[in-house]
Amino acid sequence: MDIGGFRIEQLSEGVFEVSPGGSIQKTTEQKKQGDTPSGHARVGLDPVLIDTGSTCILLDTGLGMGLDNNEPNRNTSNILTNLEIFGYQPGDIKHVILSHLHYDHAAGMSFTGKSSAVSATLPAAQIYVQRSEWEAALASVEHPPGTQGMGYEPDDLYRLVADDRFVFLDKERQDIVKGVTVLRTGGHTPGHQIVRLRSSGESAYYCGDLIPGDIHLNNSMHHKTDMDPSRARKAKMLLMNQAHRENATLLFYHSVYKKSGRITKDKNRKFVLSDY
Ligand SMILES: [Zn+2]
Repeated sequence: MDIGGFRIEQLSEGVFEVSPGGSIQKTTEQKKQGDTPSGHARVGLDPVLIDTGSTCILLDTGLGMGLDNNEPNRNTSNILTNLEIFGYQPGDIKHVILSHLHYDHAAGMSFTGKSSAVSATLPAAQIYVQRSEWEAALASVEHPPGTQGMGYEPDDLYRLVADDRFVFLDKERQDIVKGVTVLRTGGHTPGHQIVRLRSSGESAYYCGDLIPGDIHLNNSMHHKTDMDPSRARKAKMLLMNQAHRENATLLFYHSVYKKSGRITKDKNRKFVLSDY
């Protein structure tokens, strides 16, 4: 898909089943046919690649399935296999924006190699995250949040922080490169951020976990996993109204079926997605 002069590709790590406690498992072929156990959610994991023509940016990184040296199932899809499919090398990615540090968004950033050393999956990338998000991830080690859903696993990120790979953001809004701006929303986590893309009069928003998938546009069930649900609700309404005014495309990380689309309103004034 193109947004103005930007080439956009949605990478896919597959479809997963999340238990109410937050454990996550890849959905197998047999299971795809059957029912999801009650209380379990089925989610996609789809990092977004942006090629601006002069640089490449990745939005979130997936779980990093199969990247670790000791992992039994190395023959699986992850950001590296996906980049290869679209004709990119790991070193082509110069910027990674993490919406937040929950491990289903951030774990693909690093892998454990043969000597048990942790290394960066994308050797040339700077990683942009809100400083308040990093602080929340660190605090979670002492005081794990009691919420449902995904958690933080900061252990693997220390190496990357020590290597100065992280850029900690302090502002509510910051340009990363021309036309690519992060907007802090909070809500889901203290430093949750979304990404606005603008090029040649077209715009798109990468929603992170503020709107995980197309089914959450008019449904607020997912807010039970938010640390600050009322802030998340407000930020979500602001985003949907803004995207509607701009005829913008929304890009989702956790959709199973419809992973992007332009936001419009139906005759009942409910938000719906039209095809991109
Ligand atoms: Zn999350």
